[in-house]
Amino acid sequence: MTKGAGQLLGAAPDKPVEAAAQPRPAKGGPPASGRPSKRTLLGRERTDPDRRSGTRDMASMIALADRAESSALPDHHFYLPRRSHGMALFLLLAYAFAGGVAKAVPLGLPLAAGVISVALFAAGGFFAQLERRTKMLKILRQGLLALAVVLPMACAGYALGSWVEAGLAWQWAVGTVVCINAASAPLFGVRIVSLFCAKIAIWTGFAVIDPSVLTVSALLGAALALMLVARIEWQAAEARRIASDARDRVAARAEDILRSFEESGQGWFWETDRRGQISYISPSAARVLGKTVAQLHGSHLSEIVDNTAAAERTLAFHLSARSAFQDIELRAAGTANERLWALTGRPVYDSYQNFCGFRGHGTDLTEKRRSEQQVTRLAHYDALTGLVNRVQMGELLAQILAAPRESERNCAVLMLDLDRFKQVNDTLGHPAGDALLKQVAQRLERTLDGIGRCGRLGGDEFQVIVPGTHDRDKLSFVAQEIINSLSQPYTIEEQNVVIGASVGLALAPVDGSTTDELIRNVDLALYAAKDAGRGVHRFYHKGLHSAAEERAELEKDLREAIASGDLELYYQPVVYTATEKIVGFEALMRWEHPRRGWLSPEKFIAVAEDAGLIDQLGQWALRTACADLARWPEAIRCAVNVSPLQFSKTELPTIVANALAHSGIDPARLELELTESVFLNDSAGTDAMFKALKRVGVRLALDDFGTGYSSLGYLKKAPFDKIKIDQSFVRGATEDGSRNGAIIASITSLAEALEMDTTAEGVETHDELELIRILGCSHVQGFIYHEPVSAEEAGALVAGDLSARADGPQAARSQRQVLLKRVFVGHEGARMAATLRNISEGGAMLDGLWNLPAGSAVEIEFGPSARVNAQVRWSVEDRAGVEFSEPLVRREDGTFAILGETKPSLLRALAS
Ligand code: C2E
Ligand code: CA
Ligand code: CA
Repeated sequence: MTKGAGQLLGAAPDKPVEAAAQPRPAKGGPPASGRPSKRTLLGRERTDPDRRSGTRDMASMIALADRAESSALPDHHFYLPRRSHGMALFLLLAYAFAGGVAKAVPLGLPLAAGVISVALFAAGGFFAQLERRTKMLKILRQGLLALAVVLPMACAGYALGSWVEAGLAWQWAVGTVVCINAASAPLFGVRIVSLFCAKIAIWTGFAVIDPSVLTVSALLGAALALMLVARIEWQAAEARRIASDARDRVAARAEDILRSFEESGQGWFWETDRRGQISYISPSAARVLGKTVAQLHGSHLSEIVDNTAAAERTLAFHLSARSAFQDIELRAAGTANERLWALTGRPVYDSYQNFCGFRGHGTDLTEKRRSEQQVTRLAHYDALTGLVNRVQMGELLAQILAAPRESERNCAVLMLDLDRFKQVNDTLGHPAGDALLKQVAQRLERTLDGIGRCGRLGGDEFQVIVPGTHDRDKLSFVAQEIINSLSQPYTIEEQNVVIGASVGLALAPVDGSTTDELIRNVDLALYAAKDAGRGVHRFYHKGLHSAAEERAELEKDLREAIASGDLELYYQPVVYTATEKIVGFEALMRWEHPRRGWLSPEKFIAVAEDAGLIDQLGQWALRTACADLARWPEAIRCAVNVSPLQFSKTELPTIVANALAHSGIDPARLELELTESVFLNDSAGTDAMFKALKRVGVRLALDDFGTGYSSLGYLKKAPFDKIKIDQSFVRGATEDGSRNGAIIASITSLAEALEMDTTAEGVETHDELELIRILGCSHVQGFIYHEPVSAEEAGALVAGDLSARADGPQAARSQRQVLLKRVFVGHEGARMAATLRNISEGGAMLDGLWNLPAGSAVEIEFGPSARVNAQVRWSVEDRAGVEFSEPLVRREDGTFAILGETKPSLLRALAS
């Protein structure tokens, strides 16, 4: 049923369900449902004939549907109107009046004719149905027309004509015929043919009472005139109908388009009355507001948007000024998730130019704005870390350098590079690498704490811009803080990961007044920091340009040296502490550079690592050491350094095994020295590599212990045979108040428990050797016995009785700065004067303080506002050694600086 109605409305077959079933508002009253017709928006009521007289009610809609069901043809196509009993009633009344006026009723044929006319019109509904139900031929339908229209009208005319003879005044009879004709006009409406037939028929019936030539010719003339008029009328009606159909189709199409637009959620419509109260709003907009259309109906337009925005005032202005407005951005009122709307509207006037209200549409901008923000974020921010990206950092820098006032063009640029990040990425996978970068970004932001802007340039490269003028001490401090913070262990996928960071610094405008220049120079500074052994920071200076060139040259020379075999292996004896006998060597690379002379591996190993030459060099060292070792006594071992980059390659065990097989030596005579950086992740790959190397049968030594993030946990896990205590630990162990000794002692006892050897590296003085002995190191390697020697000399050494003789200075020159300075020491509320005897970054020795308990906290006052917190480490008579809770910064000129109360900018120098 509804389908037919839809077709009738000219809508798409699947759409009109709603249209047909939609209850229409009653005439003049409020809408039947909460949803006013969209046709009001389209102004359709002007064109819909059914709606011209008011709105359709449900019953008429159903009737409409019924009609549509019977035929797809429009109703005016049929000759007979659906009902004509009104006409029957009208005739009865006309006859009754005629009877009353004439006081007589004609009997016989006229009476029968009268009855027939009434009866046929009364049965008009039946004939109409018959015409519509059956698919009749036109001729049959014309027969029905004759039966249901022509015949009763002719009968009525005949009855009235005959009545004249029975005494009815002829004027009355003619008047009645005219009235009946008039009554037939609304009955037949646009059915021009039927109306014409009815009129001819009644006059013909009337005329038969005087069948003269004159009557017949008058009748024919009238019929002709009527036919002419009917034709003109018919054509006009047909033209109106076609125009109306066209309008209906346009309206239906528009309605359909608007409905699908509303349903698509892209926009919605609204309309207000002259007071600004909503008279129509799309259901989709009501849904956003969490209300029904009925609830919104009657509320003021300004109530559906938030009251705060300035845009809301703009809206209020337009509504009161009755002016059109476009795309005013407003927030939908009372929505939990913010919804942004763009509202467009224009005033509506009726044909008398009376203001009727506003009509317009709204679009939802929320998604658009969100995606715009997303695009901006992608364009300016790094998606992974959320930091500013390279583009934005570049813009920021350019902005500073182009500041209108010269004083505002100062800034510092810090370029950061993560050491060993690539290894984490390679061994733990990219998701772990990503997680690490995120944590790095967080730490970086926390460390900077707003003093600068940090961004990620890509990969493991980060950049910091600190605006303003700052002295180098402060910047050094900031750089070191960053390095310290980034070098703390990370937990990633439940694994401990340690990386380092190198920082390069350049200052604008001294180191460059354009972005390009500054970036090139800060890159050089970073390069210098990496070159200096990583984990440090370096400022840009002009010499770096030549350093960079030098480095490129060095790389070229190194390639040539490798190709022409200009490298040599030197061997430094390792002495067994208890017997003072040489038990082995450490192989150390040497390169006699054609122009620069002998170069330390510290200079060229990093170059080899960066240039991808380390594998080649490492393999050469392994083969050469094994070959040399094969010539030396069985009891002698040799250690070879293995770069972390070599360790990360799965072929390492095979390479080692090949070198051993080639020289034919016992694998247990070869020791591989690895640094803690191989543990920067606890990955399965590291464990597998250890196992594979152990299967080859070589010994493993943990080199430079104490320099990285030495975790004793590594020692338990990895199958080391030896720990090499770094020389920086040995150095200073003999000094008063140093904790190095205690640390060495605990390492040696742990190593003993784990059945590992210990080698103290870099022992130079007799004092150090003595201490190392006391602390229980099993081996010593240092200049006190031997410097690294050539293979030839090493051969000569092992040809003898292997005994080594300690030869060196008694004690190392103290690193401490000796001075005499008056300071104040605060202890448990008391303020005591003391003399500063010496000072280093980590602590100081004070004179004049009696019996300060070890472990107690003190505050040392170097000057009016230069205070440092410290802890008493030892105390003998009136002397005390204190350790600063925050290490001081040693400056290039030898003075010390301390961190002020708040920011590094408060760094103050202490007189030396
Ligand atoms: P390392 O493995 O810690 O080697 C010990 C370094 O300390 C050697 O420096 C050695 O000459 C030096 N040294 C030994 N005793 C003393 C002492 O009493 N006082 C002082 N001041 N220094 C002492 P070298 O030969 O310059 O080597 C530096 C570093 O280069 C080595 O440190 C090692 O990390 C690396 N290296 C050397 N040869 C190789 C190699 O074949 N492969 C790899 N991957 N790295 C190597
Ligand atoms: Ca070593
Ligand atoms: Ca070492």
